[in-house]
Amino acid sequence: MQEFPKVYLKPGRDHSLKRFHLWVFSGAIKGLAGKPEEGDIVEVVDSSGNYLATGHIQNGSISVRIISFEQTDAGKDFWKTKFEKAFEMRKSLGFFNNPDTNVFRLVHGEGDGFPGLIVDFYNGVVVIQAHSVGMWRHRKLFAEVIKEILGETCVAVYDKSEATLHTAMEEEGEKFLVGKSENVLVKEYGNSFEIDFQTGQKTGFFIDQRESRKLLGNYCKGKKVANIFSYTGGFSVYAAASGATVVDSLDSSEKAIELAKKNMELNFGAKSAHHYFAQDAFEFFKKEGNNYDVIVLDPPAFAKHKQALNNALKAYRRINEAAIRNLNANGILFAFSCSQVVSKDDFRKTIFEAAANTGRSVKILHQLTQPADHPINIYHPEGEYLKGLVLFVE
Ligand code: SAH
Repeated sequence: MQEFPKVYLKPGRDHSLKRFHLWVFSGAIKGLAGKPEEGDIVEVVDSSGNYLATGHIQNGSISVRIISFEQTDAGKDFWKTKFEKAFEMRKSLGFFNNPDTNVFRLVHGEGDGFPGLIVDFYNGVVVIQAHSVGMWRHRKLFAEVIKEILGETCVAVYDKSEATLHTAMEEEGEKFLVGKSENVLVKEYGNSFEIDFQTGQKTGFFIDQRESRKLLGNYCKGKKVANIFSYTGGFSVYAAASGATVVDSLDSSEKAIELAKKNMELNFGAKSAHHYFAQDAFEFFKKEGNNYDVIVLDPPAFAKHKQALNNALKAYRRINEAAIRNLNANGILFAFSCSQVVSKDDFRKTIFEAAANTGRSVKILHQLTQPADHPINIYHPEGEYLKGLVLFVE
């Protein structure tokens, strides 16, 4: 077995690893043996030197992200088995070979035992995004393994780590690790979307809102709908497909609005009952009386770390309060938060405050979360990041 540098934990700090948590925080570390650099594979041992786990070392408050609780050389076979397990799960859930939905997440970080790695599937184009230097270093091996497992199903593998890892990426490398592809057309529950995976946000599409978009379709027939923070227009397309009379899409980014328009036209041609606003959401709601029957609020993560939590909660409260004020009687609000540091309770309390400030009668119809291709490792509850409430506003 290959020798890796060792990370010694302080006495009594091994509990979380014994319960299969996937992060080692810097405060738990007594010292290092060997001179690992960011991204190297290390073995984490207790204060007496007993093996606990193998992971990638990194700078910052999370010092090691665990990839295995058994000693391993972390070679090709190790990674291939891990990928196969992640792909098998999706296969058994019916994600592969489904002509109605050919966009889904293949690897969801900690949820699939790959801390720091996201892999998305866009109708044959596989986009990988590393959030840790350790994962990024393996990108070529990962691309090779993904191609081996998927075979013909995989036309290209693209590395989209620049956005997440720009400081660490000194090597300029080829972004297409396998094949090549332009923007790709995908289907989600039969709706068409063009995915700009090279320059779009995240890996190109917010795949995690698939089930919420589908649910929205149940409530839009004959309704006037606003999709606020619309990005590629995902919710707008579902609203229009289910018979909304008006669909307004709003995003502060001009480029996002262009994408939303393109996707609406792809599905419905150039219809006039859809409007686009490249505008700040808070400004938009300053004037009341927009009178929507259904509003979707799917903002970006207002809090990316704990220090920002209070301000983020205020922003969620403000925007939700404004939306509730702009709903017609018996209106419906789809309210979301994708901030990991905002707990389900925090979010619900914030929406409760927003509702109370308006004085309207509000009922919770649905409580939403991320879909099955974004699994939560039961030992790593931090992986539960997406929260949604569907509210009925009298
Ligand atoms: N609902 C989308 C994803 C939203 S991502 C989907 O299903 O695909 C969040 C979006 O909010 C981004 O496109 C970003 O450009 C936009 N945004 C960020 N701040 C904003 C603001 N203050 N006002 C309006 N849009 C904003």
